[in-house]
Amino acid sequence: MPEASPEQPSGHAVAVDVVIVGAGFAGMYALHRMRQAGLSSLVFEAGTGVGGVWYWNRYPGARCDVESMQYSYSFSEELQQDWDWSERFAPQPEILDYANHVADRFDLRRDIRFETRVTAATFDEAAGQWVVETDRGDRVRARFCIMATGCLSAARVPDLPGLRDFAGDCFHTGAWPQQPVDFTGRRVALIGTGSSGIQATPVIASDAAQLYVFQRTPNFVVPARNGKLDADTIRYWKDDYPAHRARAREIGTFYEFATSGALDVPDEEREREYERRWQEGGVNFVHAFKDIYLDQAANDTAAEFVRARIRELVHDPDTAAALSPTDHPLGSKRICVASDYYEAFNRPNVTLVNLRREPIDAIVSGGIRTSEREYAVDTLVLATGYDAMTGALLAMDIRGRAGLSLRDKWAGGPRNYLGLMVAGFPNLFTVTGPGSPSVLVNMVIGIEQHVDWITDCIRHLDQSGAATIEADEAAEDRWVDHVNAEADLTLFPRAASWYVGANIPGKARVFMPYVGGIGRYRKKCDEVAANGYEGFRIAAA
Ligand code: NAP
Repeated sequence: MPEASPEQPSGHAVAVDVVIVGAGFAGMYALHRMRQAGLSSLVFEAGTGVGGVWYWNRYPGARCDVESMQYSYSFSEELQQDWDWSERFAPQPEILDYANHVADRFDLRRDIRFETRVTAATFDEAAGQWVVETDRGDRVRARFCIMATGCLSAARVPDLPGLRDFAGDCFHTGAWPQQPVDFTGRRVALIGTGSSGIQATPVIASDAAQLYVFQRTPNFVVPARNGKLDADTIRYWKDDYPAHRARAREIGTFYEFATSGALDVPDEEREREYERRWQEGGVNFVHAFKDIYLDQAANDTAAEFVRARIRELVHDPDTAAALSPTDHPLGSKRICVASDYYEAFNRPNVTLVNLRREPIDAIVSGGIRTSEREYAVDTLVLATGYDAMTGALLAMDIRGRAGLSLRDKWAGGPRNYLGLMVAGFPNLFTVTGPGSPSVLVNMVIGIEQHVDWITDCIRHLDQSGAATIEADEAAEDRWVDHVNAEADLTLFPRAASWYVGANIPGKARVFMPYVGGIGRYRKKCDEVAANGYEGFRIAAA
């Protein structure tokens, strides 16, 4: 086992057992578990602080759409008892406070190198080590490399002609400045109506002189009905957190999962059920019937319910029609959860610009020119999303055996085994990688499951005197086929979403997350481990 010394000029070791890339929820937990396992570890993090997505996404209105009592680590009973959430859906600053609290409480910072971006990771076959390089000139050797780089962390700035000519301020929601942006009296253009743009719209609208929302594709938005957390809810969770967490490990997030199909019940009953969930707020709406994700006709009933609400909420019929999604099944793009989104379009200072009718010609120094007219703006907000799931990994030059590049290997879409390891890249793990439940479940649950599995795997290697573990190509092929087959049973592939890479020009169209559910997936991972890491090749030094 390499010693955590000598040191580089930066004060960090040149050789450790484990390099972890990213200090978001995944990287922090990975560091904690590696230390518990007695492994020397070093984390590289591009930001100045911990928190990952919650560090970068400081845009107005940012909050989690998984309820706060569920969106937290479960590994420490003391932590989950001590921490108090204030709202049903936690706002970004509170989640960032939580991440900082965890970093302090478990003394994580001393092994995290901030403001350092990993640029390359190369497997040295002779030494059986990864050589990890950073933009600060670090070159660190490690037996294992854990990529905790996040699924939605590579912000995508679209190729809009003239963007560089814009003379005002321009911000991407996924790389928001540390200091709050003051929109008071400003004319603002917001491009993008996914979860980020939809959350930001009503908040920016309340300060700005004028907000133009540039929409290419409307999304389905359900109300959050956020509010202060009441004492009974907190007590319900804290009185028996371990049991609730055990259940969450099987089902993901707690929703009311229906047993009947949408068309199995009379029309009035179906409407009542949608209305009840709409009033309750949150993602629970999508689980009103068991076949909403599976059957187009069932899905149409939910979609039409939302379109009817849009017509009620938005006063101008043309605007309501433009805001109504018709080109993808509800839920096949991540459902958006927000407060007062549709209502914002009734404000005199908010205008929807329908890019299907008037596409953007160019960004100009004073605003945005469409095919119809020029919109004069002072501030541009890009809520244009991410190169999801693979973007952050492929931003690094990762090379496995015989110089095999991950970029080349994944040119036709990500290929791996269990979303955890890639054939040809020994001892390199991806936390919540493509091919795992990841973005389709409460991310914290997915993260803990992966990190626990990786920790057990490394321990197993060390106890058995093995040096490397590597996905077998045949197992990888079978897993990729299985991930695709599962997705094809659903309506997910019918949308041009970031789930399939459709938002990135030239990106291979492959459905990336695993839709089979966290419980089933966990069982598979546990069985693989119990069967001596079936589907992996383990080798001695
Ligand atoms: P997104 O869902 O990918 O949305 C990006 C938006 O930008 C889309 O409306 C897209 O239009 C538009 N766009 C991209 N390029 C454009 C261009 N050149 N011209 C005009 N419009 C363009 O990204 P996001 O809103 O950041 O959300 C990403 C994911 O992050 C979410 O799906 C969710 O999983 C997560 N998230 C969660 C929360 C939460 O927990 N509440 C909050 C924010 C984000 P098209 O659809 O036409 O491509």
